[in-house]
Amino acid sequence: MSSGGTSPSTASVVRKRVVTLALGVGFLGGLGIPAAGADVAAAAPGPQTVVQEQAPSLPSGRTTYRTITEYNDEMLALSARHPGLVKHITLPHKTRQGREVYGIEVTHDVGAADGKPVLLMMGVHHGNEWPSGEHTMEFAYDLIGNDGKDPRITRLLDTARVIFVPVVNVDGFVINRRTSCGVSPTCASNAGVDINRNYPFGWGSNAGSNATTRGPGPGSEPEVQNIMDLTKNNQVTVLITNHTSGHTVLRPPLEKRAGDAPDEAVYAALTDAITAENGYTGMKSGFDYETTGETPDWSYYATRGLGFTFEIMKTQSTNNTYSEVIEDYTGTGRYEGKSNREAFMVALEYAADPAAHSVITGKAPKGAVLKVTKDFDLWTAPIRQAGDVLDPPQRVPTHLESTLVAPTNGKFAWHVNPSVRPAPAYTETGVVATGPGNFIKESWTLTCARPTGEVLETVHVTVDRGEKVDVRLQECKTRFNGNGPKN
Ligand SMILES: [Zn+2]
Repeated sequence: MSSGGTSPSTASVVRKRVVTLALGVGFLGGLGIPAAGADVAAAAPGPQTVVQEQAPSLPSGRTTYRTITEYNDEMLALSARHPGLVKHITLPHKTRQGREVYGIEVTHDVGAADGKPVLLMMGVHHGNEWPSGEHTMEFAYDLIGNDGKDPRITRLLDTARVIFVPVVNVDGFVINRRTSCGVSPTCASNAGVDINRNYPFGWGSNAGSNATTRGPGPGSEPEVQNIMDLTKNNQVTVLITNHTSGHTVLRPPLEKRAGDAPDEAVYAALTDAITAENGYTGMKSGFDYETTGETPDWSYYATRGLGFTFEIMKTQSTNNTYSEVIEDYTGTGRYEGKSNREAFMVALEYAADPAAHSVITGKAPKGAVLKVTKDFDLWTAPIRQAGDVLDPPQRVPTHLESTLVAPTNGKFAWHVNPSVRPAPAYTETGVVATGPGNFIKESWTLTCARPTGEVLETVHVTVDRGEKVDVRLQECKTRFNGNGPKN
């Protein structure tokens, strides 16, 4: 575990300001020493000094909800203003209504394929859960604005990459409704698809969904495919999907019958560290209410990166007042002392911590293109159709692939998820609870290639959580430089 809980907070989110109304008093305020401000005011005779509560502020300074245009413009502006730190991304699939979905990546030397572990953070899977996009965006501002000023954040941006997609369900967001457009070309239907019931792992059991809201097939929706592609093509060691509401931090399983995650002890410990900061209640998702087809169960069972749903805001309201959005992020007002910002920081520290994932080290020729890949099947649940007809589970072929380019000195340290995969409860023959410690011993396939794509060497790497494996790519080196035996 990281030491996030004990690190000093450097968030400048709330300040008490001592205002001096007369000469000779309130010198503490003049020196910028705010801690005892209130006491000074209380103890001071006469009316010379008053203490004003400065409104707590978000990293961006915003005081109202963003529109989709504002989200998109701000992400473009951030990448233009911080070219080495912020990279603008367009996700591969347009929404059902043909809108682009955008995000940003944040890390030092952001353009490099450098093998850093990734925290993936998202908002607005549900189009009417506006605060979820705001917290996502504000954490991006927080990291960007504090880079080079706050040593903790600066260090984390040396060692981890953070990918932000503040609005996943753009079609739903622009009409302020939970579901996406679905297959209705005009979005006229009230139904649409609940894209947080469309992820393929365990899909189809109808827990918390039905044949309409879950979508026509497992992972059928472009908005879901965007997030699956990001997750499969990066080493996402921690995933946070922000929603509203209830102040809970949810982890697998979505359905009780699926049993605890094979990494339940690790999951529970990180949940505790997160909820110690934001004051939310940590729980297994199925014990809140049961569903299938949500993001974190799919991402965990596909990658072994730890996925969480954050239900931010205490109570559900489409239009939670913006002051509540600010207070929940900054730990002020009604949420005094417990901030979601610090919870995000704990998650980021964990995402960056090599002891919590795996590392492949080695040396490759400068400019060689390394890939790790993995292919396996996941399964839906037995699929419940109309009239309670049960169709057999559907196979979900799953391909993970990420890339690193060997740097000038050839030495690399690739932060990856373990190759050893959690045994899934959803199988070809039905649901069989797995439980703690139940893993499938698989390997990463690592290839070393020329930039043209010609593969020069292939090795298989088996690596578990917390382990480091060194690979020798001697054949690649010899052939890359063209002075060794050809075959
Ligand atoms: Zn939601």
